[in-house]
Amino acid sequence: MKKLISIIFASLQVVSFSQVIDSPEITKEEIYQHIKYLASDELEGRFTGTEQCRIAAEYIAKEFEKAGLQPAFNGSYFQEFPFISELKLGENSCEFFDGKKITLSINNDFTPLPFSDNLTIEGKVVFAGFGISSKENNYDDYEGIDVKNKIVIVFRNHPDVNTPHSPLEQFAGLRYKATVARDKGAAGIIFVNTSDKKDDDKLFKLEYDGAAKVKRISIIQIKRDVLQKLLSPLNLNIEELEKQITENKRPNSIELNASTKIVTEVIEVESISWNVGGMLKGNDEKLSDEYVVIGAHFDHLGWGKQNSLYLGEPAIHNGADDNASGTTGVLELAEKFASEKNNLKRSIFFFAFSGEELGLLGSSYLVNHFPVPTEKVITMINMDMIGRLKDSSLIVYGTGTSTNWKNILNDKNSFGFKLTFNDEGFGPSDHSSFYGKKIPVLFFFTGTHTDYHKPSDDYDRINSDGQEKVLKYVYSIANEIINSESRPDYLAVERKDSGRMTTSRVWVGTIPDFAGDVDGYKLGGVTEGSPAALAGLKAGDIITRFGDKKISNIYDFTYAIGNYKPGDKVKVLIKRADKEIEVELELKAR
Ligand SMILES: [Zn+2]
Repeated sequence: MKKLISIIFASLQVVSFSQVIDSPEITKEEIYQHIKYLASDELEGRFTGTEQCRIAAEYIAKEFEKAGLQPAFNGSYFQEFPFISELKLGENSCEFFDGKKITLSINNDFTPLPFSDNLTIEGKVVFAGFGISSKENNYDDYEGIDVKNKIVIVFRNHPDVNTPHSPLEQFAGLRYKATVARDKGAAGIIFVNTSDKKDDDKLFKLEYDGAAKVKRISIIQIKRDVLQKLLSPLNLNIEELEKQITENKRPNSIELNASTKIVTEVIEVESISWNVGGMLKGNDEKLSDEYVVIGAHFDHLGWGKQNSLYLGEPAIHNGADDNASGTTGVLELAEKFASEKNNLKRSIFFFAFSGEELGLLGSSYLVNHFPVPTEKVITMINMDMIGRLKDSSLIVYGTGTSTNWKNILNDKNSFGFKLTFNDEGFGPSDHSSFYGKKIPVLFFFTGTHTDYHKPSDDYDRINSDGQEKVLKYVYSIANEIINSESRPDYLAVERKDSGRMTTSRVWVGTIPDFAGDVDGYKLGGVTEGSPAALAGLKAGDIITRFGDKKISNIYDFTYAIGNYKPGDKVKVLIKRADKEIEVELELKAR
């Protein structure tokens, strides 16, 4: 009996559900149903480029079609984009010669690092301590040794490892050490764990970190016992060597009586994923050629992998709040605006991006392959994690990107939201890609929580009442912008150059372009009034040298600026189209 009743009850629910799901209004029932599906185990966490990601994309496209949106991409709701989905080992080998031959075995004795260039190198071996060269800190492992065309072996970390906030910490990054070695002329760098890891002397996992390789240098890690074999003929002990450096804070670099031949090949495997887009055409003769974008990412972490904050066995990361909630926001707003499409002045694009969790890949590709010139986009509204409204607290980013925003946000707040404003146009979600194109942005967010990036971010913890309010609020704001006579102005908000050089107080004002694999640091733009802008740098420029440092990627750049202080003048080499141009940049304080 119990079972029968529940079947009848279930079928009643289906009937009433189908009546509410197609309501043009924004309703908590529809919100609940969309999130429940998008965050279901069936979709396995919607990892970018997977079959489940594609199924979610199709669900979104069907909803757009049902609401009556036009396909945004040349008759299609889908935009394909390429991305690097994984790294694979190609041919890799490492041999040492010190009178006899020592052949290492891949994954047992050595491994190439994920960001190693693909090269075959041969040369003498030099032990160079921690591989740090810092005049300011009076510490230089490269002093008095010649590493030109040689291969350096260095410890990970830095000699101050037990001192919190050591100034040497900023030189300990593996990419940074590799760049330093290369700039000193080394053909390769070999990393070795320090003694704190000696019982568990693990080799690196081959995982893509989202950035380009360090060019023109082979980078590998070897086990500690391999280094000990090379030290033994010189009567040296690896632990004593490390201790001497860390206790005295004095480098102790030695040319070893050995040479090596190293072959590195790390293959970047390319896959495709999808953005989904629909459009409503406005009706005003003049204004319909202007567009408002409403967007959210629909990808999540799949079964975890990198970026998960969960420590247990592999589990589906359902991503209900992050970001089935925002995706649902796009669906509900699309349906609502579609029901009023005869009264819209401006046109609206609705986008669902993937690749966000891997680094804004989808939105970055989209703004560089946009259906109309991006100058015609007057505003981008982004929603990422809007399903956990608590105590009426709503956070809005981008409030400084147009002079209009704070007034509109306050005027339309008939919902009693306690609003927190953050002026910055760049932030940890897809609106950044649009702001990089000088488009005013608004980003709505109900705040982070302990389920963030964990399997427990599931549909049953969503506050669909709260989300209904948030979406009605976003609707009223979007509606105002879409139908207003004037277009919102754009303001450049000053921004800190992010990076690992937290001790650097230097401001350059560059905006990165993450699309594509270039040798150098490519600019998506520059902040108005910044040193970069005053020096004449602009979008599309590729910085290849900063002072005396070669720049192969954004990491090199971030590390390079750390060597300067506000007021310094630096010569910067850039590539613009086919020309090389040198400019002088006067650095400012943050
Ligand atoms: Zn997100």
